[in-house]
Amino acid sequence: MDVVDVIRAKRDGKALTTAQINWFIESYTAGSIADEQASALLMAIVWRGMESGELAEWTAAMLGSGVRLDLSSIEKPTSDKHSTGGVGDKVSLPLAPIVAALGLADPMLSGRGLGHTGGTLDKLGTIPGFEVDLTSEQMVKVLSEVGCVICSAGADLAPADRKLYALRDVTGTVESIPLIASSIMSKKIAEGTSSLVLDVKVGSGAFLPSLDSARELAETMVTLGEAHGVKTSAVLTDMDQPLGRTVGNALEVTESVALLDGKPPAPDLWAVTAALAAEMLHLSGVRGDPRAAVADGTARRKWDEMVRAQGGDPEAALSEAPERQDFLAPSGGIVGRIDALKVGIAAWRLGAGRSRKEDPVSPSAGVVLHKVAGDHVEEGEPILELHAEERSRFAAALEALEGAVDIGPEAPAPRTMIIETIRG
Ligand code: URA
Repeated sequence: MDVVDVIRAKRDGKALTTAQINWFIESYTAGSIADEQASALLMAIVWRGMESGELAEWTAAMLGSGVRLDLSSIEKPTSDKHSTGGVGDKVSLPLAPIVAALGLADPMLSGRGLGHTGGTLDKLGTIPGFEVDLTSEQMVKVLSEVGCVICSAGADLAPADRKLYALRDVTGTVESIPLIASSIMSKKIAEGTSSLVLDVKVGSGAFLPSLDSARELAETMVTLGEAHGVKTSAVLTDMDQPLGRTVGNALEVTESVALLDGKPPAPDLWAVTAALAAEMLHLSGVRGDPRAAVADGTARRKWDEMVRAQGGDPEAALSEAPERQDFLAPSGGIVGRIDALKVGIAAWRLGAGRSRKEDPVSPSAGVVLHKVAGDHVEEGEPILELHAEERSRFAAALEALEGAVDIGPEAPAPRTMIIETIRG
């Protein structure tokens, strides 16, 4: 097999054969295909796309590059959720303990943030002692004892995706429906969960902002999941504005713990968390009320158990940014839309995100939303509060926020957080 023939075939719009796909994924994972050749193929896929059978083979090959976890020792129904990534999207943190409190077992393998979207592991990493890198045995132990675990995907799960994702990130080849779908689904199928709910984001802060592309991505992933025996649903949710009141690692942990403590959550954050929990329960055939799990304290206790089981201290103080800067309302009126992408880029420039996967992130940097759509604001009143470790970060973050907040005389239309649910 010659890699240049494979690249040419895709460049010219042909579907790759099963033999070509298996050979490419195996050889690239083993290190015998150069990054520049793999990049050329990825770019050809971005432009030419993949047929459905071809994508199924590509995903199966990525899955087959590693092991599939065996969760048969877990007595409860296993169910997980995965988000396509957003700004202020901290839903995984309260969701896993909520569904665990309601009788599910959530084996949540998560990632670190890249670009303007945050990563669950970076958020959890702000809790003193919390260990995100577990072996498969440790992960299964926490899952069976607590009912939820949130950790990184081990090196033996879909290793092809590890390499391909890192390459896509630096070659402008992330934004492709077949590549995103195969990347997410190879990891999620490998994780061994019986059911999966995909939170597919729509709007400026999403990787694929338009509703049509989000829907196509959702349908593609549901088909892949079902084909591998995982009961899969996708919920399309609004990511045109940041989710909740905070964006940034420790800030989002604090907001999540407040939700679990029963403090009134931001309505948008609760709407998404409750809808995803309800869908996980539905797929698992288990009845339960997410609100009750919070109100009676069982979800908070599950959180504490999970944090302790992963070496963390749930009572420890999280780091706070030494430097603050307000973003003030340029005029009075009613806050309309707050652009998710601009806030995400600002948080990233403040230090909350990374540009390269080996970069460190600041635990305390980020953005607090004092006002959200529909709130009344006076001229000169703070709308956002920027947090950073160094003052030198503020100028670039404020530049990113230019035009981020609409203020007008009229109240905006209420946001529809749950746009559509697609079931397998
Ligand atoms: N998340 C993933 O895991 N993979 C992608 O390609 C995009 C988002």
